[in-house]
Amino acid sequence: MEQKIETLRKWIQESENIVFFGGAGVSTESGIPDFRSVDGLYNMKYKYPPEVIISHSFFLENPVEFYRFYRDKLLIRGAQPNPAHKALATLEKQGKLKCVITQNIDGLHQAAGSKNVLELHGSTLRNYCMRCGKKYGTEIFDQESVPRCSCGGMIRPDVVLYEEGLDQDVMSRAVHYLRQADMLIVGGTSLVVYPAAGLVQYYRGHTLVLINKSPTALDASADLLISAPIGQVLSRCVNETSEEA
Ligand code: ZN
Repeated sequence: MEQKIETLRKWIQESENIVFFGGAGVSTESGIPDFRSVDGLYNMKYKYPPEVIISHSFFLENPVEFYRFYRDKLLIRGAQPNPAHKALATLEKQGKLKCVITQNIDGLHQAAGSKNVLELHGSTLRNYCMRCGKKYGTEIFDQESVPRCSCGGMIRPDVVLYEEGLDQDVMSRAVHYLRQADMLIVGGTSLVVYPAAGLVQYYRGHTLVLINKSPTALDASADLLISAPIGQVLSRCVNETSEEA
């Protein structure tokens, strides 16, 4: 493990064009559980699997139940960036990291100071009216049940639901950064959620680093494979600078 961390530290020092691709595991150290990990209480509280509840058709047909789950499992307020988020923000400030591509919807990369963040699945921090398009923050969730716009329209989260396509602009920007990168660090994701996971195939650089606690679909092609919590790994590989906010 020490040897691997030293190798990663050296590669990061040598690289000038790093892209980070991350998933739920990046935020677990901030206390945000992967909503796909079904806990013991789940079956008592919900009649449907999460993939059904967070789908486009279910949202339209049963917004009360959708929002009950959404508030309970997806809308995590008060979470703080962890060492992984902070290390990546530091690397961006140093000019080494060009882009964070994330499957997470918690906004914690931006909270840590990252500027160039591509949110493949949207963000729980943004909401909009389905009728007039008016934008809302998370304050709309202070009221109960289904949030409504001043125009009467239903407000929805700016999050990509099951059955919905990813934002093509976000996708093409992600492909652009992946194609130019000389180093790709994939962390906190087992690379099973498509189409987002398929993006990684656009990377053509020579250094692929995987940091994940469990095996991933790409393990065989990794130049460096580290099985450890990502916050611990990255914080030891990134030199803090005086620009700390
Ligand atoms: Zn409206």
